[in-house]
Amino acid sequence: MARIIDGKAVSAAVKQNVSEEVASLKERGIAPGLAVIIVGEDSASKIYVRNKKRACEEVGIYSEEYALPEETTQTELIELIGKLNADEKISGILVQAPLPKHIDEMAVIEAILPVKDVDAFHPYNVGKIMIGDFDFLPCTPAGVMELISSTGERVDGKNCVVIGRSNIVGKPMAMLLLHANATVTICHSRTKNLAEICKTADILVSAVGRAGFVTGDMVKPDAIVIDVGMNRDEKGKLCGDVSFIEAEPKASFITPVPGGVGPMTIAMLMKNTVTAAKIQNA
Ligand code: NAP
Repeated sequence: MARIIDGKAVSAAVKQNVSEEVASLKERGIAPGLAVIIVGEDSASKIYVRNKKRACEEVGIYSEEYALPEETTQTELIELIGKLNADEKISGILVQAPLPKHIDEMAVIEAILPVKDVDAFHPYNVGKIMIGDFDFLPCTPAGVMELISSTGERVDGKNCVVIGRSNIVGKPMAMLLLHANATVTICHSRTKNLAEICKTADILVSAVGRAGFVTGDMVKPDAIVIDVGMNRDEKGKLCGDVSFIEAEPKASFITPVPGGVGPMTIAMLMKNTVTAAKIQNA
């Protein structure tokens, strides 16, 4: 039987550290601030933005929210980013994905000053992560590294398999595991013998976005299983990629959904905002 990795507890510890840091920065006259921009009416995005605002209040970070209408043009959005880049109250800028189809997401990311790019999606920060000399790490993969670290198990020398190669989760996840001296395999939709590869994983991270994708037979005995997926099952209930019921008896540690990776993402965003404030006031 696996031990459950409690994302709520680990994220609470991260946020506690962040609030202590925020308090000591404020004593020095530095107040970290986060601006969150949402364009359109996506209901899931609205929930994420609300949760980010709540987390800022919890840790003492100043926050501003910009809820823009669906028909906002790319030029208008980039103009707003320009103002926030120049605003001293704002240490970090986050543009909630997805953006409406008429807006080029990469152009928007590139408009954010790299020192205010708390999502770490700007090509400058992506490059810094690649060479292992970074200020920020993307929130979800960084949160996963914290969860793995909370198990007390070492990553060094382990076989790690990441399923998914997106720019926001899979690729940076693989890079962070590599920096931690793991031997890393990345699987994706064209991978042959995916189940066989997963079976070799001491640490298996799934970031696919399909309920029940990882079945028990794909899990090596005593593996650490991290489920990044956020899906809805046939009853509309939130679930991950991993069949928890099948994987849990085989794994040594496993994250639940909800209550695993999800809470970590916001906690790491708070941490990145504080890092941004420190860099800008160094
Ligand atoms: P994404 O951009 O859609 O990427 C999904 C990846 O899964 C792609 O690389 C895709 O391969 C791969 N994939 C899809 N079907 C596959 C298959 N049958 N076999 C093997 N690989 C397959 O998604 P994402 O943004 O990385 O997010 C992944 C999941 O994590 C989603 O459920 C998302 O909601 C969740 N998520 C959670 C958090 C959190 O805070 N907990 C944060 C971010 C994302 P190809 O590249 O070949 O198409």
